[in-house]
Amino acid sequence: MPGYRDLLAQLRGEIDEVDVARARELQPDALFVDVREQDEWDEGHIPGAVHVSRGHLESRIESAAPDKARPIVVYCLVGNRSVFATKALEELGYENVVSLAGGYTDWKRSGFPTKVDETLSPDQRSRYSRHLLIPEVGVDGQLKLLDARVLMIGAGGLGSPASLYLAAAGVGTIGIVDDDRVDASNLQRQIAHSTETLGDWKVDSAKATLKALNPDVNVVTYKERLTSENVERILAGPNGADGWDVIVDGADNFPTRYLVNDASVWHDTPVVHGSIYRFEGQVTVFRPQDGPCYRCLFPTPPPPELAPSCAEGGVLGVLPGIVGSLQANETIKLLLGIGEPLVGRLLLFDALETEFSEVKLRKDPSCPVCGEHPTITEYIDYIEFCSGRPTHA
Ligand SMILES: [Zn+2]
Repeated sequence: MPGYRDLLAQLRGEIDEVDVARARELQPDALFVDVREQDEWDEGHIPGAVHVSRGHLESRIESAAPDKARPIVVYCLVGNRSVFATKALEELGYENVVSLAGGYTDWKRSGFPTKVDETLSPDQRSRYSRHLLIPEVGVDGQLKLLDARVLMIGAGGLGSPASLYLAAAGVGTIGIVDDDRVDASNLQRQIAHSTETLGDWKVDSAKATLKALNPDVNVVTYKERLTSENVERILAGPNGADGWDVIVDGADNFPTRYLVNDASVWHDTPVVHGSIYRFEGQVTVFRPQDGPCYRCLFPTPPPPELAPSCAEGGVLGVLPGIVGSLQANETIKLLLGIGEPLVGRLLLFDALETEFSEVKLRKDPSCPVCGEHPTITEYIDYIEFCSGRPTHA
């Protein structure tokens, strides 16, 4: 029974090897296949190479290299594992395979180009493994989420579940705007807070919950109510100039809703809007480039006699969980650029009947903000006035 050394020497005699200078000449006609382990690949590899670790070679090579006639250069770290891999590829019918003698070590030592991909740490690979298994997300999608910045308006009924799922999903930066403290009547639905944080600022309570769930997430808090004075500073983003990729609107009052809308049109930032009342929930995405904005539907706030009541409206505790989760879902789709967002579609949920329905929303060419001849060009602080039926989050 031959040992490893004997087998290696024997196979080396049966396959073809090239040195790094020759391999360099074979670029870019030949496909370079890196058969090392994930962590070795992550530390640096030959640009343009595909990674198929030795253990997955037989099962994955056909999707990575469908053309069996194309020349292939197989490499590993020093040129031993690649000998076995070259032999395996020949046995699979690849016609023109060579092993890189000296491997990646010689390649690097010769000063040839190398590349380090932005990638996930081993802890992140394990935390986000269920995302990595979905082709529509994968490593690239997860990196996008980790780079993403989402601004939550409100840390209440809708903001709680939405921010928890966004944090769990690895959205890298979450901003939270809220000027309220945690009250006992919040806990029936605002699951980012707890009995222990009663009386604390909601932004602090939510931040602690999100950080405990996922330390990868940078939580930026704004302990203030959105006004015409601070909206530009907050919209500018955590570092003053980056802006936000998506705004999640869980506001419970129309002055904030109009400020968020106008800011989103002027900053070209999509808003994932949600609202709830008793057993009814609504979700839509306002992306002014290709759909209506909030003012296309409601150009100005209602007259005082039709204004919503400021009295707390009742709401079934689980309802914001459903609507806020839908908002998180829309947000993740927008960040990843996948699926069909709720742009121009108002999704209605009836919790008593367990029924979803949808209403088309159209962009209004005469909209005072996003229309052809806008008449509103500055932020307006509406005074919240009350009467009639309550609205609320
Ligand atoms: Zn509009």
